[in-house]
Amino acid sequence: MNPRVVVILPVVLTVALAGWGVAQGQLWLVAPAMVAVVAAIALIVGLRPVISTGTRTVALAADPRLLDIKRKSITEELAVLEDAQELQRGVFEVSAELVGCVDEVDARHRFAAAMRRYWSCSTVDLVVWEKGSWRGLGAPATGDVPALTGPVLLPDQPGGDLVLDLSPGVDGQAALVLRQAHLQPSLAGRSPADQRYVAEVLRTQLSLSLRRVVLYAGLQSLARVDPLTGANRRWYGDTRLTELCDGGEVVAVAMVDIDHFKSINDGFGHAAGDQVLAAVGRALTAQLRTGDLVSRYGGEEFLVVLPDTPPAGAMQVAERLREAVEAIAGMPKLVTVSIGVAACYQDETAASLVSRADAALYQAKTGGRNRVTMADDGGAEGFLRITARRTKQALGNESATYRAMTAARPTPPPQ
Ligand code: GH3
Ligand code: MG
Ligand code: MG
Repeated sequence: MNPRVVVILPVVLTVALAGWGVAQGQLWLVAPAMVAVVAAIALIVGLRPVISTGTRTVALAADPRLLDIKRKSITEELAVLEDAQELQRGVFEVSAELVGCVDEVDARHRFAAAMRRYWSCSTVDLVVWEKGSWRGLGAPATGDVPALTGPVLLPDQPGGDLVLDLSPGVDGQAALVLRQAHLQPSLAGRSPADQRYVAEVLRTQLSLSLRRVVLYAGLQSLARVDPLTGANRRWYGDTRLTELCDGGEVVAVAMVDIDHFKSINDGFGHAAGDQVLAAVGRALTAQLRTGDLVSRYGGEEFLVVLPDTPPAGAMQVAERLREAVEAIAGMPKLVTVSIGVAACYQDETAASLVSRADAALYQAKTGGRNRVTMADDGGAEGFLRITARRTKQALGNESATYRAMTAARPTPPPQ
């Protein structure tokens, strides 16, 4: 029965009895009624929490130990919920961090950071299966990739490899491998089921992001690469060269033109001409270091951009390019190129640099073809001036090194 009724019913009966007593002239009956009303008020105020929570709480209130047990179990339940919420929050944060990632290097970085929230490791390899082998995205892979026998392979012991199969994200196979993985505090002590849950959720997010990265790289390549020669398209080479010249960087260019190319087209057909163009594009690209680039400037002309390369170095590279083309085998006839080299003046524009390389190329053609010619030696002076300016900036004053560099005359490049 409701405790409120238990208290109020006797009071109502007592007050009714007092009223009957007054009507009968028995005034002494009023006194117990007043006592009953006061006692009821005291009871209701004192038991308010008990009355408001019902009979079950009356029982608990009667035994404080039971109340303690209840409080403890609620606290434990709250801790479990907060813990689960924390795990969810971390996983959502990873999603937010991955949203803007489109570049391969950036992707590897962010994927590694996401995983390291939960597992520490020595290295992280992001790999895709391409042309019969694994290719590291963003950095070369540091070791073999374990067989992908499941979506998630947790380390079989602390310090083992953790492998996520990211293949759903791309057409071929892809994987993320954490070498020497150990649980971070955020996962330590959790059940294997919890660990697997986190790894599964991360795998889904990473593979979606990887899909975006791969699509973006494909689009970029379509826009940037000339499909026939594999060289960059002209706009890309020009943009990169302009950036370097405008940034006051040391840079040299080599303008490469295939000799008597028209005679190949005329004598062997355009398909043979295309085959030669493709082979020359491959040969040039194969000779360059990372950071250099080759773009198809015109029909059978290529512009090679050589950042951070002094004039003498540029001449060496150009000579290597010339030899590499001359060595191409299996062509309808011997293929040769003429090359004009120019190194930047201080504050020279990209257009001026290319135009000087063009003039040097013209000299190579008129000089007999299959040769490398350097533009006027102002490029060499320009290189020294830029280097000296940088040194001066680095030292902050006119040092002996700076004076020595500005005083030195460049060795004339070989003709
Ligand atoms: P030089 O030694 O003076 O450079 O002579 P050249 O014959 O190489 O130069 P020219 O400019 O007279 O001829 C270039 C030829 O390249 C003309 C053009 O038909 C051909 N060409 C341009 N683009 C392509 C292409 O994509 N495929 C093929 N097969 N030929 C092309
Ligand atoms: Mg030409
Ligand atoms: Mg030509």
